[in-house]
Formats: sequence, C-alpha cells, structure tokens
Amino acid sequence: MYIIGIDIGGMSVKGGVVDQSGTIIYKASVETKANSDDYRVIISDIAFLINKLLQHTNLKITDVKGLGMGIPGTIDSVKGVIVYSNNINFINVPIVAEINKHFNGLPVFINNDANAAALGEHRFGSAKDVQNIVFVTLGTGVGTGIIIEGKLFEGKASAGAEGGHTVICVDGEPCSCGRRGCFEAYASAVALVRQTKAAIAENPFTLMKTIAEEKGKISGRTAFIAAAHGDKAGIQVVDNYVKYVGEGIVNLANIFRPDVVLIGGGVSNEGDALINPLQKYMDGHCYGMQNGNPRVLVKKASLTNDAGILGAASLVL
Ligand SMILES: [Zn+2]
Repeated sequence: MYIIGIDIGGMSVKGGVVDQSGTIIYKASVETKANSDDYRVIISDIAFLINKLLQHTNLKITDVKGLGMGIPGTIDSVKGVIVYSNNINFINVPIVAEINKHFNGLPVFINNDANAAALGEHRFGSAKDVQNIVFVTLGTGVGTGIIIEGKLFEGKASAGAEGGHTVICVDGEPCSCGRRGCFEAYASAVALVRQTKAAIAENPFTLMKTIAEEKGKISGRTAFIAAAHGDKAGIQVVDNYVKYVGEGIVNLANIFRPDVVLIGGGVSNEGDALINPLQKYMDGHCYGMQNGNPRVLVKKASLTNDAGILGAASLVL
C-alpha cells in the first residue's frame, strides 16, 4: 500500500509516493503560485502534481491509502481547513473538500508542517519509535511539533504547540506574531543573521566581515564558519545564539520532559557545532538534573530534504 505526501511551501509544492517503510518511490514538485488571488489555482496545481505522481509510478488512485499534507500556518486538522497561512494566500480554505473534488473518496489528512515533520521523525527518522519528542525547526521562523506518548499534541482547534511564540525575553525583540521577545525572534535563522550583522557592525576586523564579503551576503552560516576558524566575535555570536536556542528548548523540556529534543531546519545543518553545545546547555539548565531527573537528549533531525514529504505521509499512518 502506498501513501502520497505533499509538502506545501512558500516557493514550491513537493510531493512524493511513499511506501509503508518510509521509502520515497518517486517525487516531483510544482512552483507555488503564492500570490494568486484564487486559492483554487494552487489546488489545481496540487491535483496536477498528484496525477503526475500516479502516472510515473503506474498507480491508480485506489492503490493509494491516503494523502497527507503538511502546510505552514494554523491548520484545523479536524475540520480539514487551512485557517491561516501567512506564506501563501490561504485564509479559511477548506482544502480537504477541495482536494476531494478532484479525487473523490480519497482520505486526506492535513496538519501544520512542523507537526507533520515531528511525526515523520517519530515514524521514520532519528526519533523512530521514541514516545516523547519535542521537535524544533530553526528556519525562517521557529516551528515546534510536540509528540506525547506517541501522539501528536495540537491543542484546541489545532492552534497549540506554537513553542516559537513563547517569550524568552520580556520586552525584547519584536516578533512576527505581534508580541515581543519570542523564542522565534531570537532563535530563527533570520534572527541569527540580525545578530551576525550587529556583531560585524561592532567589530570591523572580524572574519565574519571577510566571509560575508566573499559570499556576497550575511547568512545563518557566517558566524558558524568564523567561529570554526577561531574568530572571537564569531564565537561570541554562536555562543549567544546557542544560549537563546538553549533557553527556548530548556523551557519546552521543563514542560514536556521529552526523551529527546530534535533540532531541524536550515540552522541544524551546522551539526555538532550546534548540537553539542545545546546538549551541554540542556544538561546544565534542565530542571532537577542534579537531583536525578532523567537527561533530555538533543539530536539533529534526520529526514532533512525529505522531511516535508515523509512528515506529510506520516499523517496518513
Ligand atoms: Zn512570536
């Protein structure tokens, strides 16, 4: 039996046919017409993509157990409605009903993309069969997915599990959500770039400046590369960034006490340079560590490029 996983992003819609073991048999993508006034344009592009996936794998729609979709934003998984997606022009879109207009009777499951990715890691990835997981993506924003006793926690109307919008600094940096001092405002890749820019402005001789000039821009990698070369200001930026991420994940770990905190998203590609100091931070700051509370492991998420498709497919399983 096969599953189709669809990952809707601001730039492209990726889709794949996945078997029960989590192997992607075939994948393809279409551009997301994110600025379209009519959401039906994107829906018909998704239908086109699904048909393409079926054709290339010689499958009929009746061979497919179900369709899972991971979507950025607030998603009502019970009603099958995209309540609001800020990356795409989707407001109150009954996407499950719309997909069923094209594929009548196909079971369709939708969820927030971070939630889907957390499930994907639980099914197929670096937290396979682990029962309690906090998944954190460090990308343009900070998304979180929470799995408790093997089940996704979503809260009322699926509006919960927004760990990126918990405050780590009262009256701090403004956040896209309207509050100040959110975890996201300090730990996203965008925030890391802002911190790097500020450090370059203060340290005209830092290696970060040379790296940025060579690459033509300041990115989330700039400070990590400089730090690896022993640049003092770069090390300072990375240390501060680790502290911000550390505070956010310690807060989440103190509430949920998961077996593991998984780090995904673009910044997680720094690997051990990020994960090792985060583990140390967690060991030093988690509640009750000195008194025998269990250790919370910090690991890099493993599904990387295919996380969206496999996460979406996991919604069906
Ligand atoms: Zn916020």
